[in-house]
Amino acid sequence: MCVKLIIELSSHRTHLGAIEQELRKIARVDLHLEPPSTSVGSQPLVFSISDRDAGCGCSWVTDTAAWEKRHWQFKREAIESIADAVDGALKFAKGTASFRAVWLGVDRPSPTEDEVSAKQLISEIRANRIVPSRHYRVVRNA
Ligand SMILES: [Zn+2]
Repeated sequence: MCVKLIIELSSHRTHLGAIEQELRKIARVDLHLEPPSTSVGSQPLVFSISDRDAGCGCSWVTDTAAWEKRHWQFKREAIESIADAVDGALKFAKGTASFRAVWLGVDRPSPTEDEVSAKQLISEIRANRIVPSRHYRVVRNA
């Protein structure tokens, strides 16, 4: 099992360094560039976030977490980092943005898309209610 927390922003790749610096400051997380999908804007910046020195999101989920469950079960101590990192990253979005916590591997369900405001998304993260099969599209006035 491998969990990745992926953020897509319609922002330039050249902003990655600035975003990385910001997130290491506010949430002490690492950024990893991911292959772009075509879903956001013309020049989406796609990256995943992880705990410092971890390559993926696995260290942030509990031992009993599974994608079949209704919600991801993030560790209490991870929630604040994730929420702060997503919140911080969204400030760099020039237009559209999205967030998803995906399971890498076989047999995962195709995601359903859901429009949320940045505020709603952050509060879902803080409530530990992120849905494994959901692709959260962040819109300005949802
Ligand atoms: Zn992993």
